[in-house]
This record gives sequence, C-alpha cells and structure tokens, in this order.
Amino acid sequence: MSPPRAVCPRCGYDQSGAIAAWDRLDPPHCPIAGVCTECGLDFEWRDLLNPAFSRQPRFFEHTNQRRLASFVRTWRAAARPWVFWRWVKMEHQPNVLAMAWLAALGFLLTQSLMVIALGLVGLVGDVGTLFRTGNWYGRSMSIGDAFAIAAFPFGTYLDERTLSALWWFQFDIAPLQLIAGMTLLLVPFAFLLVPTTLRRAKVQRVHLLRIWTYSLVWAPVFLGATAIFIVFDRTVCGFLAYMGLRPSWTDRMLPYGFDRWSALVATVAWLLLWWTTATSLYLRIPHGAAVVALLTFASLLVSTLAALLLYGPGLFLY
Ligand SMILES: [Zn+2]
Repeated sequence: MSPPRAVCPRCGYDQSGAIAAWDRLDPPHCPIAGVCTECGLDFEWRDLLNPAFSRQPRFFEHTNQRRLASFVRTWRAAARPWVFWRWVKMEHQPNVLAMAWLAALGFLLTQSLMVIALGLVGLVGDVGTLFRTGNWYGRSMSIGDAFAIAAFPFGTYLDERTLSALWWFQFDIAPLQLIAGMTLLLVPFAFLLVPTTLRRAKVQRVHLLRIWTYSLVWAPVFLGATAIFIVFDRTVCGFLAYMGLRPSWTDRMLPYGFDRWSALVATVAWLLLWWTTATSLYLRIPHGAAVVALLTFASLLVSTLAALLLYGPGLFLY
C-alpha cells in the first residue's frame, strides 16, 4: 500500500519521505508527532492523515450541510480572535471560495447590524425628544442622522460639530478614516514584503489570505467607531440636557477630536490583536507579536503617506 499523501500544513513540503522512513524504524512504527524538515513546524501526524482531525465540520469552509448554522458560528467566532485561531488550524484545508463568501457576507451582516443598532439609538433620541417637547425641535440625534452616519461612517461630515448638512452629505472620505481602511487592507502585503518572516517560516500564501479575509468580518465595528461614538455621545447628551445635567443639547461630552480619531485607533488595535493571535496560535510562529507590531506600523506609515499625498499637509486639520 502506498503511503497517504501528506504535506506540511504551513509550508506545503511533501512529507512522503518522512512517512516512508517509518518502515526503517526499529521496530517499524508510526510516530505520534513529526517535525517538518523544511520549516521546522511541529505537528501531529493524525492532523495530516486522519480526516477526523484534518476537517472541522462546523467551520464554514468545510461544512457540507447546515450551511447557515456554520456561517453564523464562523461569523461569531471571528469576533474573538483568541477563540477563532484555536478553532481553525493550518491543518484544516483552506477553501478559498468559502472564505471569500464568508468574508463578504460576514462584513455585510456586521455592517447591517451596526446600522440597525445605531438607528435604534437614534430612534430612542427621537422618541425622547417628542415626549419632552411635544415636537421634534431640539433633538440632538435623529434616527435619520444615526442611520446615515452608520451606513457610511467615513465621510468628512463626521468631523463637523453639526450634522445638519447630513442629508446632502457628499461621499468624500475623511483622511483618518481612509488611513484606517488602507491599513486594514495593507497588513498582509506587508507580510509578503518582509521576506525574513516568511522565508524563515515558509508560510503558504493561502494562510495569509485566510487570516486577512476573516479580519474583515468584524472590521465595520472598528472602522465605524467614529459613528458609534457620535451617535451615543449625541443621544446621551440630549437626555442629560433634558435632566438638567448638561448645559445644552448641542453640547458634547467627548472632547473634540476623540471621536474623529477613534476609528483609526480602534482599527489599529483590532489589527494588532487579530494578527498577533493568528501569528502565534495559527501560524505557530514564535515571537509573532513583535513581527506583527512592526508590520502594522509599516502599513500605517504607508497609508498615512498615501493620505498625505491625497490631502496635502493639512491632513490632520480636517
Ligand atoms: Zn513545513
């Protein structure tokens, strides 16, 4: 019987030579664990050879039935990288098409839920205003404003103190939002461009693709942090003004600039958490945190330079 085909889950190196050598052991036996001679990865043979271990039936990339349940399970797990990257392993054969579907639909689902949630907060503000004044005047945040901000949380209107211009808002993108979005998209390319990381560990590119696509699933919450802060700030301020605890409903609680920067700060924090857990738990590369911090910083720098070229030196005055 020919030995089953097995390759290193990280670098793809053919392990049939190592399997053939089992016959020459004294006495001949199948060891439990192996080490890839190409990239140095420690693995267990059962994870390569036994479908019970090389498949994850409830993971969206592997499921054959109950696709909706496995979609929801995978989408939810992607919100907690320390759970996700213990659940999904390199030994689980990547399915690029399923990956693309999950990233696209998961992103839309997260974005839609955020729009609905912030719309409801705006509605609470509206109803509160109606109860206390008998009309809509003096509301600090309406359902329409909240809905529009959440649906497109990248506009320059986010930087203005007043949201009155919202209904004819232009689809121009605020520079800090652009930097956050670009950084999110650039990190895997930074991985490819820093050759020592990959050369030492010889990571197959499909693993970087997998890490990157799932990082997008919950990205709307971080890219939309500015919208979330604005909607909550305005709504809470409206209530506090009503109770006499704030001077006016146009007042803000958060210092000016805090909400503007929050999307960039939240996105970079998410990227650091996501790629650090993926590098150490999934790629099993030691000292992943330092590498990830360096690559995230490089992506941030490139995005900032690109934004400077687009907006000019007045970038941070927006
Ligand atoms: Zn290997």
